[in-house]
Amino acid sequence: MDKNSRYEVNAGKEINTRAILDMLDQMYGTSKEGFSFGADWQLLVAIMLSAQSTDKQVDEVLPGLWKRFPDLQSVVDADLSEIEEQIKSVGLYKNKAANIKKCCTKLLTEYGGKVPADLEQVVKLPGVGRKTGTLFLADFYGTPGVTVDTHVFRISHRIGWAEGSTPAKVEQELMRVLPKEHWNRINFQLIYHGRAVCTARKARCEECRIREWCGKRL
Ligand code: SF4
Repeated sequence: MDKNSRYEVNAGKEINTRAILDMLDQMYGTSKEGFSFGADWQLLVAIMLSAQSTDKQVDEVLPGLWKRFPDLQSVVDADLSEIEEQIKSVGLYKNKAANIKKCCTKLLTEYGGKVPADLEQVVKLPGVGRKTGTLFLADFYGTPGVTVDTHVFRISHRIGWAEGSTPAKVEQELMRVLPKEHWNRINFQLIYHGRAVCTARKARCEECRIREWCGKRL
């Protein structure tokens, strides 16, 4: 399906997807400032840390983390408590530290020290779910992918882009509705929009700049 026919599908639902996407680009930009990393495994670890934590919290721990653990071997050789110590200001740090150690060990011993470029392989790594894997592939390899978190799930339903009852179903719907060039940015754009305007508690439609094209399924 080409770009224009995707838009026509949405036009049939009386939702002007093109106008919404243009406005989201205007409001939130088309690229997000990424985490600091040197190697592929470091970006993967940063994204693992960002689950249920803010980017700011993650940004604050990364310089110390990379200083203490400059390569995979240093993570593999470390005591778990040393990893915990470095990331303790981030949510769920004990689980994350254990997963980081297991993930880095697997990368070094089974993957030749390289994070695979394929989602089915990436999600086999400890602590790496579909969302983390998709974000990693998008940020490191530029692979198009839609990541559905709580904000994307909620706002996609409100706009009328999706009806699915699970993140996996919404991911499939969004990949049908949105042109591919928007897949990698829709996640952060809707996160920003979900924090600022279309919040979980209340959709502030009266001050929303996409209200004129939104299905407002509240
Ligand atoms: S705030 Fe209202 S108009 Fe804006 S995206 Fe949410 S539901 Fe749509």
